[in-house]
Amino acid sequence: MTSSTDSLARELGCIACGATYAPGYRLECDACGGLLELRYDLDTLRARGPALLTGAGFWRYAPVLPIADPAHRVSLGEGATPLLECPRLARHLGVRRLLVKFEGSNPTGTVKDRTSATAVAAALQFGFGATSVVSTGNAGSSIAAYSARAGLRSFVFAYERASAPKLLHMSATASDLILYKGVYDDLIGLWDRLVEERLFFDCGATRNPYKHEGKKTLAYEIAEQTGWRTPDVVVAPVAVGEVFVATARGFREMQAAGWIPAAPRMVAAQAARANPVVRAFRSGAALAPVKIGYTVAEGLAAGDPGRKGEWVLRLLREGKGLAGDAEDDEILEAQRTLARTEGVWAGPTGVATLAVLAKLLAAGALDPAQTIAVIVTETGLKTEAALPSRAGTAFDEASLRRLVVERLRTA
Ligand SMILES: [Zn+2]
Repeated sequence: MTSSTDSLARELGCIACGATYAPGYRLECDACGGLLELRYDLDTLRARGPALLTGAGFWRYAPVLPIADPAHRVSLGEGATPLLECPRLARHLGVRRLLVKFEGSNPTGTVKDRTSATAVAAALQFGFGATSVVSTGNAGSSIAAYSARAGLRSFVFAYERASAPKLLHMSATASDLILYKGVYDDLIGLWDRLVEERLFFDCGATRNPYKHEGKKTLAYEIAEQTGWRTPDVVVAPVAVGEVFVATARGFREMQAAGWIPAAPRMVAAQAARANPVVRAFRSGAALAPVKIGYTVAEGLAAGDPGRKGEWVLRLLREGKGLAGDAEDDEILEAQRTLARTEGVWAGPTGVATLAVLAKLLAAGALDPAQTIAVIVTETGLKTEAALPSRAGTAFDEASLRRLVVERLRTA
Protein backbone atom coordinates (compact mmCIF):
# COMPACT_ATOMS: atom_id res chain seq x y z
CA MET A 1 0.00 0.00 0.00
CA THR A 2 1.14 3.52 -0.76
CA SER A 3 2.55 5.28 2.27
CA SER A 4 1.15 8.74 2.82
CA THR A 5 4.64 10.16 2.39
CA ASP A 6 5.18 8.66 -1.08
CA SER A 7 5.01 10.90 -4.12
CA LEU A 8 2.42 9.68 -6.63
CA ALA A 9 4.12 11.53 -9.54
CA ARG A 10 4.18 9.07 -12.45
CA GLU A 11 5.10 11.00 -15.60
CA LEU A 12 5.84 14.29 -17.29
CA GLY A 13 3.41 15.07 -20.09
CA CYS A 14 3.84 17.65 -22.85
CA ILE A 15 0.86 20.01 -22.94
CA ALA A 16 1.49 20.76 -26.63
CA CYS A 17 2.09 17.41 -28.37
CA GLY A 18 1.10 14.85 -25.73
CA ALA A 19 4.51 13.13 -25.49
CA THR A 20 5.16 11.57 -22.08
CA TYR A 21 8.36 10.97 -20.12
CA ALA A 22 9.33 9.27 -16.88
CA PRO A 23 9.74 11.85 -14.09
CA GLY A 24 13.37 13.01 -14.27
CA TYR A 25 15.38 16.15 -14.94
CA ARG A 26 13.68 17.68 -17.97
CA LEU A 27 12.62 21.28 -18.49
CA GLU A 28 10.68 20.96 -21.74
CA CYS A 29 9.50 18.43 -24.32
CA ASP A 30 12.29 16.77 -26.35
CA ALA A 31 9.94 16.27 -29.27
CA CYS A 32 8.47 19.75 -29.67
CA GLY A 33 9.95 22.05 -27.02
CA GLY A 34 6.53 22.39 -25.35
CA LEU A 35 5.90 22.89 -21.64
CA LEU A 36 5.67 19.83 -19.42
CA GLU A 37 3.28 19.08 -16.59
CA LEU A 38 3.59 16.44 -13.91
CA ARG A 39 0.91 13.77 -13.81
CA TYR A 40 0.01 11.58 -10.87
CA ASP A 41 -1.47 8.17 -10.08
CA LEU A 42 -5.13 9.18 -10.18
CA ASP A 43 -6.33 5.65 -9.35
CA THR A 44 -4.61 5.79 -5.98
CA LEU A 45 -5.81 9.36 -5.37
CA ARG A 46 -9.36 8.24 -6.16
CA ALA A 47 -9.15 5.08 -4.03
CA ARG A 48 -7.55 6.66 -0.98
CA GLY A 49 -9.30 10.04 -1.07
CA PRO A 50 -8.21 13.01 1.04
CA ALA A 51 -7.37 10.60 3.91
CA LEU A 52 -4.12 10.13 1.95
CA LEU A 53 -2.97 13.50 3.28
CA THR A 54 -1.25 13.31 6.66
CA GLY A 55 1.02 15.53 8.73
CA ALA A 56 0.97 19.31 8.73
CA GLY A 57 2.12 22.17 6.54
CA PHE A 58 3.21 22.21 2.94
CA TRP A 59 4.61 18.65 2.71
CA ARG A 60 1.26 17.30 3.87
CA TYR A 61 0.60 17.37 0.10
CA ALA A 62 3.68 15.25 -0.70
CA PRO A 63 1.59 12.59 -2.55
CA VAL A 64 0.68 15.22 -5.19
CA LEU A 65 4.15 16.78 -5.34
CA PRO A 66 7.09 15.43 -7.40
CA ILE A 67 9.74 14.94 -4.69
CA ALA A 68 10.33 11.24 -4.03
CA ASP A 69 12.79 11.24 -1.12
CA PRO A 70 11.55 12.84 2.14
CA ALA A 71 15.17 13.86 2.87
CA HIS A 72 14.98 16.31 -0.06
CA ARG A 73 11.82 18.03 1.16
CA VAL A 74 13.20 21.36 2.34
CA SER A 75 10.94 23.56 4.49
CA LEU A 76 10.87 26.88 6.32
CA GLY A 77 7.27 26.41 7.45
CA GLU A 78 5.65 27.54 4.18
CA GLY A 79 2.01 26.92 3.30
CA ALA A 80 -0.89 26.39 5.71
CA THR A 81 -1.70 30.08 5.15
CA PRO A 82 -5.06 31.40 6.40
CA LEU A 83 -8.20 31.40 4.26
CA LEU A 84 -9.90 34.37 5.88
CA GLU A 85 -13.65 34.89 5.92
CA CYS A 86 -13.98 38.62 5.12
CA PRO A 87 -17.52 39.73 6.00
CA ARG A 88 -16.80 43.48 6.19
CA LEU A 89 -14.97 43.49 2.86
CA ALA A 90 -17.76 41.34 1.37
CA ARG A 91 -20.33 43.96 2.44
CA HIS A 92 -18.15 46.71 1.03
CA LEU A 93 -18.02 44.95 -2.35
CA GLY A 94 -21.63 43.80 -2.27
CA VAL A 95 -20.86 40.09 -2.43
CA ARG A 96 -22.45 37.39 -0.23
CA ARG A 97 -19.31 35.53 0.87
CA LEU A 98 -15.69 36.52 0.31
CA LEU A 99 -12.62 34.53 1.29
CA VAL A 100 -9.06 35.86 1.17
CA LYS A 101 -6.21 33.36 0.85
CA PHE A 102 -3.45 35.44 2.43
CA GLU A 103 -0.04 34.33 1.22
CA GLY A 104 1.79 37.13 3.03
CA SER A 105 2.06 34.82 6.03
CA ASN A 106 4.59 32.59 4.25
CA PRO A 107 8.20 32.60 5.61
CA THR A 108 9.51 35.23 3.17
CA GLY A 109 6.16 36.98 2.88
CA THR A 110 5.03 35.70 -0.50
CA VAL A 111 3.36 32.81 -2.33
CA LYS A 112 6.73 32.17 -3.98
CA ASP A 113 7.82 30.12 -0.97
CA ARG A 114 5.59 27.29 -2.21
CA THR A 115 7.48 27.08 -5.51
CA SER A 116 10.83 27.68 -3.82
CA ALA A 117 10.17 24.62 -1.66
CA THR A 118 9.63 22.32 -4.67
CA ALA A 119 12.31 24.03 -6.79
CA VAL A 120 15.05 23.67 -4.20
CA ALA A 121 13.88 20.15 -3.29
CA ALA A 122 14.08 19.25 -7.00
CA ALA A 123 17.58 20.75 -7.20
CA LEU A 124 18.58 18.36 -4.40
CA GLN A 125 16.69 15.48 -6.04
CA PHE A 126 18.60 15.94 -9.31
CA GLY A 127 21.97 16.47 -7.63
CA PHE A 128 22.55 20.17 -8.32
CA GLY A 129 24.90 22.16 -6.07
CA ALA A 130 23.53 25.58 -7.00
CA THR A 131 20.25 27.28 -7.85
CA SER A 132 19.59 30.48 -9.77
CA VAL A 133 16.85 32.97 -10.55
CA VAL A 134 16.54 36.35 -12.27
CA SER A 135 14.21 38.43 -10.13
CA THR A 136 12.73 41.84 -9.35
CA GLY A 137 12.83 40.92 -5.65
CA ASN A 138 10.31 38.48 -4.19
CA ALA A 139 11.42 35.39 -6.09
CA GLY A 140 15.08 36.22 -5.43
CA SER A 141 14.77 36.40 -1.66
CA SER A 142 12.58 33.32 -1.53
CA ILE A 143 14.84 31.12 -3.66
CA ALA A 144 17.87 32.41 -1.73
CA ALA A 145 16.28 31.59 1.63
CA TYR A 146 15.29 28.06 0.61
CA SER A 147 18.69 27.42 -1.00
CA ALA A 148 20.40 28.51 2.22
CA ARG A 149 18.10 26.21 4.16
CA ALA A 150 19.11 23.31 1.88
CA GLY A 151 22.84 24.16 1.97
CA LEU A 152 22.98 25.09 -1.73
CA ARG A 153 24.66 28.03 -3.48
CA SER A 154 22.19 30.55 -4.90
CA PHE A 155 22.99 32.86 -7.82
CA VAL A 156 20.37 35.59 -7.51
CA PHE A 157 20.36 38.10 -10.36
CA ALA A 158 18.35 41.08 -9.15
CA TYR A 159 17.20 44.18 -10.94
CA GLU A 160 19.26 47.17 -9.73
CA ARG A 161 16.05 49.09 -8.92
CA ALA A 162 14.60 46.41 -6.63
CA SER A 163 12.94 47.92 -3.53
CA ALA A 164 15.13 48.48 -0.46
CA PRO A 165 13.39 45.88 1.77
CA LYS A 166 13.67 43.24 -0.96
CA LEU A 167 17.31 44.12 -1.64
CA LEU A 168 18.13 43.85 2.08
CA HIS A 169 16.39 40.48 2.26
CA MET A 170 18.23 39.14 -0.80
CA SER A 171 21.61 40.38 0.35
CA ALA A 172 21.08 38.63 3.68
CA THR A 173 20.03 35.25 2.27
CA ALA A 174 21.69 34.80 -1.15
CA SER A 175 25.14 33.24 -1.31
CA ASP A 176 25.76 35.22 -4.53
CA LEU A 177 23.67 38.34 -5.14
CA ILE A 178 24.42 39.98 -8.49
CA LEU A 179 22.71 43.23 -9.53
CA TYR A 180 22.11 43.73 -13.23
CA LYS A 181 21.53 46.77 -15.39
CA GLY A 182 19.24 46.88 -18.37
CA VAL A 183 16.38 44.77 -19.56
CA TYR A 184 15.21 41.55 -17.92
CA ASP A 185 14.37 39.95 -21.28
CA ASP A 186 17.97 40.39 -22.50
CA LEU A 187 19.55 38.90 -19.40
CA ILE A 188 17.16 35.96 -19.30
CA GLY A 189 18.26 34.91 -22.80
CA LEU A 190 21.90 34.69 -21.64
CA TRP A 191 20.94 33.07 -18.35
CA ASP A 192 18.97 30.33 -20.13
CA ARG A 193 22.18 29.21 -21.87
CA LEU A 194 23.81 28.61 -18.49
CA VAL A 195 20.77 26.54 -17.50
CA GLU A 196 21.34 24.41 -20.61
CA GLU A 197 24.93 23.83 -19.43
CA ARG A 198 23.55 22.77 -16.04
CA LEU A 199 25.73 25.28 -14.18
CA PHE A 200 22.78 25.79 -11.85
CA PHE A 201 19.21 24.60 -11.37
CA ASP A 202 16.54 26.68 -13.15
CA CYS A 203 14.42 28.38 -10.47
CA GLY A 204 12.72 30.70 -12.98
CA ALA A 205 8.99 30.82 -13.63
CA THR A 206 8.92 30.14 -17.36
CA ARG A 207 9.26 26.39 -17.84
CA ASN A 208 10.55 24.25 -14.93
CA PRO A 209 7.68 21.82 -14.14
CA TYR A 210 9.12 20.94 -10.72
CA LYS A 211 9.33 24.50 -9.50
CA HIS A 212 5.90 25.31 -10.85
CA GLU A 213 4.32 22.42 -8.96
CA GLY A 214 4.61 23.87 -5.44
CA LYS A 215 1.91 26.47 -6.06
CA LYS A 216 -0.60 23.69 -6.77
CA THR A 217 -0.86 23.32 -2.99
CA LEU A 218 -2.84 26.60 -2.98
CA ALA A 219 -5.76 24.73 -4.55
CA TYR A 220 -5.45 21.79 -2.16
CA GLU A 221 -5.39 24.08 0.87
CA ILE A 222 -8.41 26.08 -0.32
CA ALA A 223 -10.33 22.83 -0.89
CA GLU A 224 -9.41 21.46 2.54
CA GLN A 225 -10.11 24.75 4.32
CA THR A 226 -13.61 24.88 2.80
CA GLY A 227 -14.34 21.28 3.80
CA TRP A 228 -14.01 20.13 0.14
CA ARG A 229 -16.89 22.46 -0.82
CA THR A 230 -14.72 24.68 -2.97
CA PRO A 231 -15.62 28.32 -3.71
CA ASP A 232 -17.61 29.00 -6.90
CA VAL A 233 -14.99 31.47 -8.10
CA VAL A 234 -11.23 31.82 -7.45
CA VAL A 235 -9.40 35.01 -8.49
CA ALA A 236 -5.68 34.47 -9.21
CA PRO A 237 -3.01 36.91 -10.45
CA VAL A 238 -1.20 36.48 -13.76
CA ALA A 239 2.29 37.77 -14.53
CA VAL A 240 3.92 34.83 -16.32
CA GLY A 241 1.03 32.67 -15.12
CA GLU A 242 2.56 30.36 -12.54
CA VAL A 243 0.02 30.89 -9.72
CA PHE A 244 -2.91 30.75 -12.12
CA VAL A 245 -1.86 27.60 -13.99
CA ALA A 246 -0.79 25.72 -10.87
CA THR A 247 -3.98 26.57 -8.96
CA ALA A 248 -6.26 25.68 -11.88
CA ARG A 249 -4.38 22.39 -12.35
CA GLY A 250 -4.72 21.57 -8.64
CA PHE A 251 -8.50 21.97 -8.75
CA ARG A 252 -8.75 19.92 -11.95
CA GLU A 253 -6.64 17.17 -10.40
CA MET A 254 -8.91 17.00 -7.34
CA GLN A 255 -11.97 16.93 -9.57
CA ALA A 256 -10.50 14.10 -11.67
CA ALA A 257 -9.74 12.17 -8.46
CA GLY A 258 -13.30 12.72 -7.22
CA TRP A 259 -12.19 14.77 -4.21
CA ILE A 260 -14.34 17.77 -5.18
CA PRO A 261 -17.53 17.80 -7.31
CA ALA A 262 -16.44 20.65 -9.58
CA ALA A 263 -13.44 22.90 -10.15
CA PRO A 264 -14.10 26.59 -9.35
CA ARG A 265 -14.43 29.12 -12.14
CA MET A 266 -11.01 30.81 -12.44
CA VAL A 267 -10.58 34.57 -12.89
CA ALA A 268 -7.22 35.87 -14.16
CA ALA A 269 -6.18 39.26 -12.76
CA GLN A 270 -3.53 41.55 -14.29
CA ALA A 271 -2.32 45.11 -13.88
CA ALA A 272 -3.73 47.34 -16.63
CA ARG A 273 -0.17 48.45 -17.49
CA ALA A 274 0.93 44.84 -18.08
CA ASN A 275 -2.12 43.03 -19.43
CA PRO A 276 -1.29 40.85 -22.47
CA VAL A 277 -3.45 37.93 -21.27
CA VAL A 278 -6.48 40.14 -20.58
CA ARG A 279 -6.16 41.77 -24.01
CA ALA A 280 -6.01 38.42 -25.77
CA PHE A 281 -8.90 37.08 -23.70
CA ARG A 282 -11.10 40.08 -24.53
CA SER A 283 -10.31 40.09 -28.24
CA GLY A 284 -10.35 36.30 -28.66
CA ALA A 285 -7.02 36.60 -30.47
CA ALA A 286 -3.74 34.80 -29.85
CA LEU A 287 -1.45 36.06 -27.10
CA ALA A 288 0.81 38.92 -28.22
CA PRO A 289 3.53 40.65 -26.15
CA VAL A 290 2.71 44.19 -25.00
CA LYS A 291 5.08 47.02 -24.20
CA ILE A 292 4.60 47.60 -20.50
CA GLY A 293 4.84 50.70 -18.33
CA TYR A 294 5.74 50.88 -14.63
CA THR A 295 3.05 49.46 -12.38
CA VAL A 296 2.89 49.52 -8.58
CA ALA A 297 2.14 45.79 -8.88
CA GLU A 298 5.83 45.15 -9.61
CA GLY A 299 5.46 41.38 -9.49
CA LEU A 300 2.90 41.51 -12.31
CA ALA A 301 5.13 43.49 -14.70
CA ALA A 302 5.43 40.90 -17.47
CA GLY A 303 4.71 42.07 -21.00
CA ASP A 304 5.55 38.76 -22.64
CA PRO A 305 4.37 35.76 -20.58
CA GLY A 306 5.22 33.44 -23.47
CA ARG A 307 4.08 29.82 -23.52
CA LYS A 308 2.82 29.88 -19.95
CA GLY A 309 0.61 32.84 -20.81
CA GLU A 310 -0.82 30.78 -23.67
CA TRP A 311 -1.49 28.02 -21.14
CA VAL A 312 -3.42 30.54 -18.98
CA LEU A 313 -5.54 31.52 -21.99
CA ARG A 314 -6.24 27.89 -22.82
CA LEU A 315 -7.36 27.16 -19.25
CA LEU A 316 -9.53 30.30 -19.23
CA ARG A 317 -11.21 29.36 -22.51
CA GLU A 318 -11.69 25.68 -21.61
CA GLY A 319 -12.99 26.42 -18.12
CA LYS A 320 -15.32 29.33 -18.98
CA GLY A 321 -13.05 31.58 -16.94
CA LEU A 322 -12.88 35.33 -16.86
CA ALA A 323 -10.07 37.89 -17.04
CA GLY A 324 -9.80 41.49 -15.87
CA ASP A 325 -7.26 44.20 -15.13
CA ALA A 326 -6.94 47.15 -12.75
CA GLU A 327 -5.20 50.53 -12.89
CA ASP A 328 -2.55 51.44 -10.31
CA ASP A 329 -4.87 53.81 -8.39
CA GLU A 330 -7.48 51.05 -8.17
CA ILE A 331 -4.85 48.61 -6.87
CA LEU A 332 -3.71 51.08 -4.18
CA GLU A 333 -7.34 51.69 -3.21
CA ALA A 334 -7.86 47.92 -2.83
CA GLN A 335 -4.73 47.79 -0.64
CA ARG A 336 -6.15 50.45 1.74
CA THR A 337 -9.62 48.87 1.74
CA LEU A 338 -8.29 45.42 2.67
CA ALA A 339 -6.21 46.92 5.48
CA ARG A 340 -9.06 49.05 6.89
CA THR A 341 -11.88 46.51 6.59
CA GLU A 342 -10.10 43.29 7.58
CA GLY A 343 -6.68 44.24 9.00
CA VAL A 344 -4.74 42.49 6.24
CA TRP A 345 -1.70 44.45 5.03
CA ALA A 346 -0.75 43.22 1.59
CA GLY A 347 1.53 44.59 -1.12
CA PRO A 348 0.24 46.05 -4.42
CA THR A 349 1.20 42.91 -6.37
CA GLY A 350 -0.88 40.92 -3.91
CA VAL A 351 -4.05 42.99 -4.01
CA ALA A 352 -4.34 43.38 -7.78
CA THR A 353 -6.70 40.39 -7.63
CA LEU A 354 -8.96 42.23 -5.21
CA ALA A 355 -8.96 45.39 -7.34
CA VAL A 356 -9.93 43.32 -10.39
CA LEU A 357 -12.68 41.54 -8.44
CA ALA A 358 -14.15 44.89 -7.32
CA LYS A 359 -14.28 46.05 -10.95
CA LEU A 360 -15.85 42.83 -12.24
CA LEU A 361 -18.52 42.96 -9.52
CA ALA A 362 -19.25 46.62 -10.25
CA ALA A 363 -19.62 45.76 -13.94
CA GLY A 364 -22.03 42.91 -13.19
CA ALA A 365 -19.65 40.34 -14.70
CA LEU A 366 -19.81 38.06 -11.63
CA ASP A 367 -22.76 36.79 -9.61
CA PRO A 368 -22.54 38.40 -6.11
CA ALA A 369 -24.53 35.49 -4.62
CA GLN A 370 -21.62 33.13 -5.21
CA THR A 371 -18.78 32.32 -2.84
CA ILE A 372 -15.63 34.02 -4.14
CA ALA A 373 -12.06 33.38 -3.02
CA VAL A 374 -9.27 35.83 -3.81
CA ILE A 375 -5.59 34.89 -3.70
CA VAL A 376 -3.56 37.73 -2.16
CA THR A 377 0.04 36.81 -2.90
CA GLU A 378 2.29 39.03 -0.76
CA THR A 379 2.72 40.94 2.48
CA GLY A 380 2.79 44.72 2.45
CA LEU A 381 5.83 44.76 4.73
CA LYS A 382 8.34 44.53 1.85
CA THR A 383 6.84 47.39 -0.14
CA GLU A 384 8.64 50.69 -0.60
CA ALA A 385 6.23 53.63 -0.66
CA ALA A 386 5.92 57.23 0.51
CA LEU A 387 5.59 57.44 4.30
CA PRO A 388 2.70 59.22 6.03
CA SER A 389 3.62 62.48 7.81
CA ARG A 390 6.06 62.08 10.70
CA ALA A 391 4.99 65.34 12.40
CA GLY A 392 4.50 64.50 16.10
CA THR A 393 2.54 66.22 18.88
CA ALA A 394 3.66 66.86 22.50
CA PHE A 395 0.80 66.12 24.97
CA ASP A 396 -0.13 66.83 28.56
CA GLU A 397 -2.89 64.80 30.26
CA ALA A 398 -5.69 67.24 29.39
CA SER A 399 -4.77 67.60 25.74
CA LEU A 400 -4.36 63.84 25.39
CA ARG A 401 -7.82 63.20 26.90
CA ARG A 402 -9.40 65.94 24.77
CA LEU A 403 -7.98 64.42 21.59
CA VAL A 404 -9.27 60.92 22.33
CA VAL A 405 -12.72 62.11 23.50
CA GLU A 406 -13.14 64.29 20.40
CA ARG A 407 -12.03 61.49 18.08
CA LEU A 408 -14.47 59.04 19.71
CA ARG A 409 -17.35 61.44 18.99
CA THR A 410 -16.67 61.29 15.25
CA ALA A 411 -18.07 58.41 13.23
ZN1 LIG B 1 5.82 18.05 -27.03
